[in-house]
Amino acid sequence: MTERTLVLVKPDGVQRRLIGEVVSRIERKGLDIVALELRTVPRELAEQHYAEHDGKPFFGDLLEFITSGKVLAAVVEGPRAIAAFRQLAGGTDPVEKATPGTIRGDFGLETQYNLVHGSDSPESAAREIKLWFPNL
Ligand code: ADP
Ligand code: MG
Repeated sequence: MTERTLVLVKPDGVQRRLIGEVVSRIERKGLDIVALELRTVPRELAEQHYAEHDGKPFFGDLLEFITSGKVLAAVVEGPRAIAAFRQLAGGTDPVEKATPGTIRGDFGLETQYNLVHGSDSPESAAREIKLWFPNL
């Protein structure tokens, strides 16, 4: 079943010049990129994107971080694209959860600075794609 998912390379990944690495892994997995744009993230978009985390202790820092520099936003498509990209990304904590061979496991050290975002369910994917690419 073909799905679409929203992928972000967060400001840490862009600053560390890992856009090519992430895009390459998406392509090598066999997924298609159907939209791709380097963006400055307005505060309001960040708040909407991460609305589920409103009230958590890391929410303020997360908004600061995600609006701190350019982000690469992409819509990625393919069979089981949502789970497939989460597999490529690895777990949220790059050391305790993500394993070597994943993007976070290979390049990350801290939970906040974990390089990439991928939608976690079909509902999240639909909501996030509409938020980031309303004209798609
Ligand atoms: P994921 O990105 O794996 O779906 P979550 O949706 O739980 O993870 O969290 C969103 C983002 O918030 C994470 O990717 C990470 O950047 C940040 N984050 C999550 N938990 C923490 C935490 N305990 N401390 C600091 N930042 C966190
Ligand atoms: Mg999440």
